[in-house]
Amino acid sequence: MKIKPGVPAPGMRDRMGPTFDERRGVEYRQLRAASLVNRLNARPLPFGWTANPYRGCEMACRYCFARYTHEFLGHNESEAFERRIYVKLTDPGSLVAELKRARRSGLLVALGTATDPYQPAESKFEVTRRVLEGAVKVPGVRLSITTKSTLVRRDLVLLQEIAARSEIAVNFSITTLDEALARRLEPRAPRPDLRFEAMRALAAGGILTRLFIMPVLPRLTDGETNLRALLVRAREAGAQIAESNVLFLRPGTRETFFEFLRAEFPELVPEYERLYAGSAYARRDYVGEVEARVRRLSAEVGFAARRRDDRPVDTPSPRQLALVW
Ligand code: SF4
Repeated sequence: MKIKPGVPAPGMRDRMGPTFDERRGVEYRQLRAASLVNRLNARPLPFGWTANPYRGCEMACRYCFARYTHEFLGHNESEAFERRIYVKLTDPGSLVAELKRARRSGLLVALGTATDPYQPAESKFEVTRRVLEGAVKVPGVRLSITTKSTLVRRDLVLLQEIAARSEIAVNFSITTLDEALARRLEPRAPRPDLRFEAMRALAAGGILTRLFIMPVLPRLTDGETNLRALLVRAREAGAQIAESNVLFLRPGTRETFFEFLRAEFPELVPEYERLYAGSAYARRDYVGEVEARVRRLSAEVGFAARRRDDRPVDTPSPRQLALVW
């Protein structure tokens, strides 16, 4: 879709409501969502449906690939993605109907594919919690959640209720154990050790958890020591699977990330320019090198690691279809 800079995309303006809360310099605005659970028509992916309760994300990761999504709301400044958070309004009845549609398809609903469903806004607005409450009413629905937040612990009991009759997994995105580096890369995300504690609590509660080393950042987090430490900690915390993916710099993110590099790690700019010359993807030889490293370390640690792209394309499973009624 072609969008004019600074102008909401067609159909979007009517859905955008007023600012209804403000805290710590962040504005929260309403966004009426036609549906919260949406069928994916893109290329085959490991999930068939997505649910993103919020637009924008206060955690402000410098590498966040979803920054461009704010352009559809008429916001072109990078800061707006972190400071103007849209909260999707939906009615519980429609949500359950949407989840039933997803269940009928037998395909996985991925919660948090663009923005974090447990970002700070969730502690107040609880849209993600409402999705989970809806999922409890739709046994047999298949769900995955991806987050950097420890707030997911709040919903352990709900997750257990879902796990008793449906499929659910929680993916923890953790890129480094270096607290100072994490603070620079992911300024308002919880500390990495706290994310591992949350992973441990969920795994101990019987929830399937995965480590997502996403993204792996060249020369910042791609070293053997860091990758091994992440895998070891995840193994100890009870994660069952580890996945990784090298940084992707799509337009919108590329500018923000290079600005960050120039300010914080100027010595790395030439190397990133070389690795990402004319492409959103890193050079293939570099990606191959990192993948081989993660594979080897994962095997040593006892994980069956895979790249994000190695996840099987989601197809309805006969077991799940049998649960549809
Ligand atoms: S937590 Fe996820 S969605 Fe939020 S800014 Fe970071 S990468 Fe983006």
